[in-house]
Amino acid sequence: ESKLQLVRRHIRDFPDFPKPGIVFRDICPILKDPAALTAVIDLFEEHVRKNHPQVELIVGLDARGFLFGPLLAQRLGVGFVMIRKKGKLPGTTASVAYDLEYGKAEAEIQEDAVAPGQKILLIDDLLATGGTLYAAGELLKKQQAEIMGCLVVIELNELNGSDKLKPLPVFSLVQY
Ligand code: IMP
Repeated sequence: ESKLQLVRRHIRDFPDFPKPGIVFRDICPILKDPAALTAVIDLFEEHVRKNHPQVELIVGLDARGFLFGPLLAQRLGVGFVMIRKKGKLPGTTASVAYDLEYGKAEAEIQEDAVAPGQKILLIDDLLATGGTLYAAGELLKKQQAEIMGCLVVIELNELNGSDKLKPLPVFSLVQY
């Protein structure tokens, strides 16, 4: 079995969650299985070493980006930074508002977390419409970071999230 097959086998589907008509892709079984989690980080590491060897920082999205980001950052020997939902980070923060399917959300980063010109990769568990990663990209642009691309475990192709993120490259392990 390949690493990709191992990862795919540890994603569970929950029809009609959180709402009727939506199939929720659940990464919890990956976290429960050390070999599957190692495979995820192996595959990300391979991709980054090959395509973005200059990366200086991994920036993860609240909340499931926090599960994979620090493991990858440690592998690569770089730091990890959190983008959090509004109101969670102490000190001076920069923020960006963005639209969700219903209502609005706001994401924040500590103002001194990223240095101007620093080369970063964004990471989250799943790319759907791309709204969340797009907002994170806007926030980092305000901080004058150099964003090299986005990493996700799962990409939902029919929602065209990677089009929304263009010209930023998106690397995903499993597509639906
Ligand atoms: P987007 O902004 O539409 O791309 O939605 C992506 C965000 O919603 C990510 O932070 C995901 O964690 C979350 N999300 C959306 N759909 C799912 C799903 O099926 N499983 C897990 N997370 C999801």
